[in-house]
Amino acid sequence: MCQQVAYVALPAPTHSRQLTSILSSEGTRWTKCGHFQRHLVVAIMDCSSSRCERSLRHPSTCRSQSCHKNFGQEVQKDIDAVDEYCWACRAAAAKRQR
Ligand SMILES: [Zn+2]
Ligand SMILES: [Zn+2]
Repeated sequence: MCQQVAYVALPAPTHSRQLTSILSSEGTRWTKCGHFQRHLVVAIMDCSSSRCERSLRHPSTCRSQSCHKNFGQEVQKDIDAVDEYCWACRAAAAKRQR
């Protein structure tokens, strides 16, 4: 996996309480179960916090356990929609029938 992901700086005042970075992605929406299948990470919206491991500002030498490790939320953009259940839901349904 050698994917270039653009880092986008969040406008500071409106996101002053934003403590974790946001992942912006594109994918398929499975409309019957509402799940989202990510195809591509479009951008990472950097919270510019040195307390967030997902931020470019986070020092690589940091050994703190209290830093945020995960993206706070994900902005999901539907590039297409399929009127079906997703693979995971279909597998789960098949299991239940047995
Ligand atoms: Zn840290
Ligand atoms: Zn599903």
